[in-house]
Amino acid sequence: MNIHTHNFIDAERWTGRAFFGGWDRTEAGTINVTDPANGTVLASVGLGGPADIARAAAEARAAQKAWARMLGAERARILNKAADLLEANGTELAQWIMKESGSIHQKAMIEIEHGALFIRHAATLATAPSGMFLPGMDDRENYARRVPHGVVGVISPFNFPLVLSVRSIAAALAVGNAVVHKPDPRTPISGGIIISRIFEEAGLPAGVLQIVPGGADAGEALCSDPNVAMISFTGSARGGAKVGEIAGRNLKRVQLELGGKNALIILDDADPDVAASNAAWGAFLHQGQICMATGLVLIDEKIEQAVAERLVAKAAHLPVGDPSSNQVALGPIISDAQAAAIQAIVDDAVAKGARLLVGGRGEGRFYPATVLSGVTPGMLAFEEEIFGPVACIVSFRSDEEAIALANRSDYGLAAGVISADVGRAMAVGQELEVGQLHINDQTVNGGPYAPFGGRGKSGNGTRVGGPADIEEFTQWQWVSVKSAATPYPF
Ligand code: NAD
Repeated sequence: MNIHTHNFIDAERWTGRAFFGGWDRTEAGTINVTDPANGTVLASVGLGGPADIARAAAEARAAQKAWARMLGAERARILNKAADLLEANGTELAQWIMKESGSIHQKAMIEIEHGALFIRHAATLATAPSGMFLPGMDDRENYARRVPHGVVGVISPFNFPLVLSVRSIAAALAVGNAVVHKPDPRTPISGGIIISRIFEEAGLPAGVLQIVPGGADAGEALCSDPNVAMISFTGSARGGAKVGEIAGRNLKRVQLELGGKNALIILDDADPDVAASNAAWGAFLHQGQICMATGLVLIDEKIEQAVAERLVAKAAHLPVGDPSSNQVALGPIISDAQAAAIQAIVDDAVAKGARLLVGGRGEGRFYPATVLSGVTPGMLAFEEEIFGPVACIVSFRSDEEAIALANRSDYGLAAGVISADVGRAMAVGQELEVGQLHINDQTVNGGPYAPFGGRGKSGNGTRVGGPADIEEFTQWQWVSVKSAATPYPF
């Protein structure tokens, strides 16, 4: 890919820079962006440190009031224009997502399509009713209205860098907040530059959106910055705990969208072909690097063999390699360290008695679709989020046992139940302690109209998307109006 042949993304504009409402150099220097498939340096962007975050937060705060005062219809127009630009330039922008995050084309296009949908959904919030009249307590009028928090800090991960950034940014902006966004330094283009460019071209007033790629130090600075009122964090449970701690200490509102160990429960009356297809998609899409990936495939022992055989056949036929060839189903794992972590979990399972049915040995960052059976509590493969293409089969003998196994997890993000009997699947599903429940579907589901989030280690009970956005990105203000001031006893 020659970055200079791309028109919209226009690398001359941002090389070595971050977006402070305009493109500028950062105090912390620059960082190279590499392709995880082959180590090629794709670009260089400005790296943000604490001083750069402080600058961005101060500039965002200065710009926020005028943005909030702007007519909602005008904010909506700008957001919809940004969505138009994302779609219109989708083919070009998807190339960056593929290169930077090791995505196959199909997954990159899902990001473009969903990114635009999230922005358009957010635009509707800008013109939604935002308050209510309250019952009278005396002769004054009382009303309550939703007002923006001020500056929202957004922190996002590498795996779906565009969607997971834009879903919070667009919702926060739509209702009148300014935003300081810190994408993962490994994916600053898909998670940052693309978003800056679409909003820049859409006519967003300068300063309202600041995008500064950086590491944990920049993220922590955002969580303690006095100009930031709320943090919207998407990432690991470990990162989220740290973010929650710092934001809490600084009395900021904090939204935590964290990891998952998501169970797909396949009951004994399920069609084995369809069930295996669901398990393969849920476990292997984007190399399993998805918070809602199917982390446990719980199968009734009566059909375990039938489903496992089909799942193995699918896994064995999924080519792994550089997505730019357009010939692969699985691209690279994001880093060598993450590839090694996947291998350690698979090795631990085998050492503790699980059976390796296919895959199980990576080559560098390329890890094949892998199926383990006989996975049981006590194995890392049962307990931990793997973030790799590993389907962990756990067998059960009754619906009750399946529920108990699924609820053992510390996480509580998503679950799926597959059965020929919808009522039975729903009866199982309603016992599961998760934020998203999918009947007759696997666990990887998301979109702009649904509230998305988890319980336990998957988050702090907050949600992003759909009806949750107004709740999360605004707060109540009570306004009382007397026709004239009246005296008090003293
Ligand atoms: P991570 O927590 O290491 O990093 C995520 C982001 O947080 C990055 O921008 C990183 O720079 C930043 N960060 C890390 N430490 C920080 C700190 N101390 N203070 C402030 N910011 C900090 O996560 P990761 O491993 O890169 O991403 C994968 C994780 O994200 C998985 O656990 C996955 O399940 C989760 N995830 C959750 C969702 C969701 O919506 N629930 C979506 C996608 C990914």
